[in-house]
Amino acid sequence: MAFGWIDEQASARRRAGLVRTLRPRPADSPLLDLASNDYLGLAHHPEIIEGAAEAARTWGGGATGSRLVSGTTELHGELERELAAFCGFEAALVFSSGYAANLAAVTALAPHGSLVVSDAGNHASLIDGCRLARGTTQVVEHGDPDAVRKALGTAKGPAIAVSDTVFSVDGDAAPLAGLAAACRAYGAGLVVDDAHGLGVLGDGGRGAPYAAGLAGAPDVVVTVTLSKSLGSQGGAVLGPAKVIDHLVNAARTFIFDTGLAPAATGAALAALRLLRREPERAARAREVARALHTRLTASGHEAVRPDAAVVSVRAPSPDQAVRWAADCRAAGLAVGCFRPPSVPDGISRLRLTARADLTEGQIDRAVGIIGDTRP
Ligand code: PMP
Repeated sequence: MAFGWIDEQASARRRAGLVRTLRPRPADSPLLDLASNDYLGLAHHPEIIEGAAEAARTWGGGATGSRLVSGTTELHGELERELAAFCGFEAALVFSSGYAANLAAVTALAPHGSLVVSDAGNHASLIDGCRLARGTTQVVEHGDPDAVRKALGTAKGPAIAVSDTVFSVDGDAAPLAGLAAACRAYGAGLVVDDAHGLGVLGDGGRGAPYAAGLAGAPDVVVTVTLSKSLGSQGGAVLGPAKVIDHLVNAARTFIFDTGLAPAATGAALAALRLLRREPERAARAREVARALHTRLTASGHEAVRPDAAVVSVRAPSPDQAVRWAADCRAAGLAVGCFRPPSVPDGISRLRLTARADLTEGQIDRAVGIIGDTRP
């Protein structure tokens, strides 16, 4: 029977307790939210909502076509120029998601005969970029510039190293300076995904590459999402103008995809302008993450020291992680729950995201609930 194998996979998942289900988030949720990626608390900000609404009124509900046909509005250009300038890069190109931006950057920069050196902890979208690329991929130990150096030494043609700047599972930062030095030693490009760094790290939220002194470097390309700190939806690639021109001409997820919706473009632009005006939001998100970590470890939890706004707390098993997250929810707190197969090391975690708009009282309440519901 067609799709019979799906039943087998589904029962294996049920037996392992790894079934995932969708739960709609009520518009007026009473839960204290430490599960979303809205790091700066901008998704519901009136200026961002108005940016989306005004863009939709002017340009319509959708982009109407691919960017090279009818899907480029003035807003796309403004967002690209302002995003590039904010993060310190020559040019930027906006995509319909961060996922599409990562597929574009990796595939377009890894031609036939090239080598891609990829960190073992990279996000699924970078991994998929490696899978689609014409070059050969070598996966190296997590966070290890020496391993990257060694791998680059085996390249027989053009090479890039690919890494998240902040890893989404544990919230640890990549050794960007070491990675850049390794790439420079071999004339390789460095492609980094700053999904969790933009708006949180670097001066006023200019991102992890900016903080590491790599902004504007001719051999560095950065991908970002507009869906976390900027409270919107979409993604972008930032880098030297010649790389961006190359993507316009060669990146399939740019050429064959409908342009980013005007509302998302307008919301991201409004968020970027607000962040420029209120740079203290970035530092506050980091401060909230540190406060969460300090208070959690003080009450005996095993939590990874956060380098950005993601705080990861270890759970004893996948089952207990799911129950712990459900008990938190019942007590009024929304947290993320990471378990296999999303975590390559098999360790289940509660994943908390710090938000710049959390009060001290809310931080204490969250830590209290996590402690009270501990398995
Ligand atoms: N990279 C990383 C590290 C991410 O966490 C995410 C979002 N989960 C993405 C890329 C994908 O971005 P988007 O959601 O905009 O497609």
